[in-house]
Amino acid sequence: MQRYPELRMLIGGDWRTGDVGQPVMNPADESVLATVPRARAKDLSDALSAAEQGFRTWRATAPARRAEIILKAAALMRERVEAIAIGMTLEQGKPIAQSRLEVLRACEIIEWDANEGRRLYGRVIPAEPGMTHMVLRQPIGVVAAFSPWNFPVSSPARKVGGALSAGCSIILKASEETPAGAVMLAQAFTDAGLPPGVLNLVFGVPSEISDYLIPQPSVRLVTFTGSVAVGKRLAELAGRHMKPVIMELGGHAPVIVCADADPAAAAAASIVGKTRNAGQVCVSPTRFFVHDQIHDRFAQAFGQAAAAIRVGDGMDPATQMGPLANERRLAAMEHLVADAVSRGARVLSGGSRIGNRGYYFPPTVLADVPDDAIAMQQEPFGPLALVARVGSLDEAIGRANSLPFGLAAYAFTRSAETAAILADRVECGNLSINHFVASVAETPFGGVKDSGYGREGGTEGLACYTVAKNVSHKTA
Ligand code: NAD
Repeated sequence: MQRYPELRMLIGGDWRTGDVGQPVMNPADESVLATVPRARAKDLSDALSAAEQGFRTWRATAPARRAEIILKAAALMRERVEAIAIGMTLEQGKPIAQSRLEVLRACEIIEWDANEGRRLYGRVIPAEPGMTHMVLRQPIGVVAAFSPWNFPVSSPARKVGGALSAGCSIILKASEETPAGAVMLAQAFTDAGLPPGVLNLVFGVPSEISDYLIPQPSVRLVTFTGSVAVGKRLAELAGRHMKPVIMELGGHAPVIVCADADPAAAAAASIVGKTRNAGQVCVSPTRFFVHDQIHDRFAQAFGQAAAAIRVGDGMDPATQMGPLANERRLAAMEHLVADAVSRGARVLSGGSRIGNRGYYFPPTVLADVPDDAIAMQQEPFGPLALVARVGSLDEAIGRANSLPFGLAAYAFTRSAETAAILADRVECGNLSINHFVASVAETPFGGVKDSGYGREGGTEGLACYTVAKNVSHKTA
């Protein structure tokens, strides 16, 4: 089996190489896997024309036929799960089992959207005799989508699945650092018989591509997953051109461990949640606010569980946590830990780089982390867990809500009353109680505050790709 696929762009149904772009690195050993294509101006204008034509074709295709093609693409991805997972682990570092799960999750998202696309019903609103008010749900148009390096398949799947299921065409700029997942996803759609131009895939210089695409009159929606800083820049540009956006940005997820929770069970679940994709997840549990009564038992169990995690090359089936995806994350972890320790934090586990080849950094649990530590304010986006002691539920909620982020939040409690208080008061888009799954295909996912707006997934997500058109018809 070929281990890493050939990287090309998909424009108007044709695969193109473009100019030679940046190298794609394997974070496990810092070797070069390939170079990613770099779109030229002509490639971008061709992609735009292709998407405009693709939209006309796709919009006029019956929803049932659209669903059939999209479901076929998902079925092909299921057949190819191993090849896609290998490409992803090589370029991104996550353990191969997590890569397989990501492909399957991407398929679930695409399948759910495809089926729901057949149910984008409008409404008929009662009116006086001789008058009909009808609300039509129409596809919004050409979508410009930007996906990040941490989920090379499931993030593109959210955008492509949503757009295509609603009847839109899409130009996807996937990550130049982890391009293989998007290439293999696009291949599955072309093999499934998607008409040319409905899905276009480009790579290049991110700012060149967003600066070109967002102002184009035919681009009617911008969807971005990535950092708050870039999200604000793209939202500003979109605002200037009156384009709606879906912004799925950073988080800094709090975990409120209440006095009535089982500290050992909460710690066991927390280490699995924290080490998923080496913590490079926008919903990664990070700030643990633990009630004083169980704090020490929780912290001890968490530190021990972290130390037992097997860190290594993601291609080794025994590996539980792979390397960080790039050198930037490694430098960030070293900086955040050093800063927290200099302010009095205690290292319960991990804390420094493993080896000097490959971007390995262990799961790191810090206790007594003061609120002024940089890691308490900025999203670590890595395997860093910060444990802080709290005296009450009120204090925990206050500290959880104290940052400008509000994506995922978690809590552990056995009390239905406490769960209801948390549901009411924690400022976030997704609250999970007694587990760490932030979203599934059928639920809406997204943030509040600086974590963004708009939703991916669920009926709310699909609605973002449509326009509600009201038609009033007077017949008498
Ligand atoms: P970054 O800000 O340099 O880039 C973030 C993403 O935006 C990348 O995928 C990049 O290719 C893209 N990008 C950058 N400039 C762009 C532009 N002008 N137009 C279009 N796309 C552009 O950060 P980074 O070092 O790659 O990642 C680190 C930070 O990003 C993390 O701390 C985290 O907060 C955030 N992040 C969040 C998610 C998420 O799922 N929400 C995913 C990846 C990264």
